[in-house]
Amino acid sequence: MSNWRDNIRLVEPYVPGEQPDFPDMVKLNTNENPYPPSPKVFKAIKDFDADTLKLYPDPSLHLLVDAIAKNYGIEDNQVFTGIGSDDVLAIAFMTFFNSKKPILFPDITYSFYSVWAKLFKIPYKSPELDKDFMIKAKDYYSDNGGIVIANPNAPTGISQSEDFLIDIIEHNRDVIVIIDEAYVDFCGKSALHLTKRYDNVLVVQTCSKSRSLAGMRIGYAMGNPELIKAMDDVRLSFNSYPMTRLSIAVGKAAMEDADYYKETTKKIIETREWTKKELKRLGFTFGDSETNFIFAVHSSFKAEYIFRKLKEKHIFVRHFNSPRIDNYLRISIGTQEQMQYFITELEKILMK
Ligand SMILES: *Cc1c(COP(=O)(O)O)cnc(C)c1O
Repeated sequence: MSNWRDNIRLVEPYVPGEQPDFPDMVKLNTNENPYPPSPKVFKAIKDFDADTLKLYPDPSLHLLVDAIAKNYGIEDNQVFTGIGSDDVLAIAFMTFFNSKKPILFPDITYSFYSVWAKLFKIPYKSPELDKDFMIKAKDYYSDNGGIVIANPNAPTGISQSEDFLIDIIEHNRDVIVIIDEAYVDFCGKSALHLTKRYDNVLVVQTCSKSRSLAGMRIGYAMGNPELIKAMDDVRLSFNSYPMTRLSIAVGKAAMEDADYYKETTKKIIETREWTKKELKRLGFTFGDSETNFIFAVHSSFKAEYIFRKLKEKHIFVRHFNSPRIDNYLRISIGTQEQMQYFITELEKILMK
């Protein structure tokens, strides 16, 4: 018997949402944006010179970093970019969570956090959210190796107040506090300004949700230059050319069209509020979502059943088979037309 298996790293991976491909499908399972990216993105792709692909991209990513910094009114040295915020968050975990004390994040949150913690051998604890899916601040007062909070949280859609975040940060000035703002544009309450007051806070955002660029893989972190430099050094020790020339050009174009995205975001918020009323009428309950999805439970039908019935109609929503949330459906907000169709089909399922 040979022993080569002894040295293989075996991990339990994150399970991404399905990417089915039916021409007639209504895809409400991975929180993608139903609207196309900005016209400036289309133009950047049309104008892109494929000949330049023979050269490596700029390792400093400065065109993209510059556009992000301008959009948020900060300096270039306060911006880090990566291949989607998943990449940015993974590098942040690697860079900042090197204590022997456990890092803290809620039991119900983005399930990638525990996957990275295990991958990087970072000890962690996941205090329970309360029954309304709110974070209990005092669970985060104990000695720890760092904190990650998705705000608004996923998959619940609920956000914590700024006062709450300040309280957590004030109690944790000796560790890095990461605030994952993947959905912040649908809520409008970013903690970015707190990075000026607190040098241990890192805010992470993405172009995948509000900027309709999930397929391009662009994420970024913002914080004080010392944090950004530390992340850059880790990145350069790992992959010095993480982002393609095309994604740099596309990300820059997207950052330069805030007005367009304000419009599409507004439409999604309007459709979300309409969908909330309809779901209530059909007997669902849910926390007050401030994202582009609603996390809902039905008073009599099992989530798994509704999920299956919708799937037969090629309507895809997300169902998590995890403790405490296995009777919930996470429903991404599509266009108004898609949501009307979804509600019509859902109503038929619940009538039977
Ligand atoms: C979608 C999501 C991300 C990652 O998105 P990317 O496409 O990798 O930028 C990160 N955090 C949360 C909470 C998300 O929902």
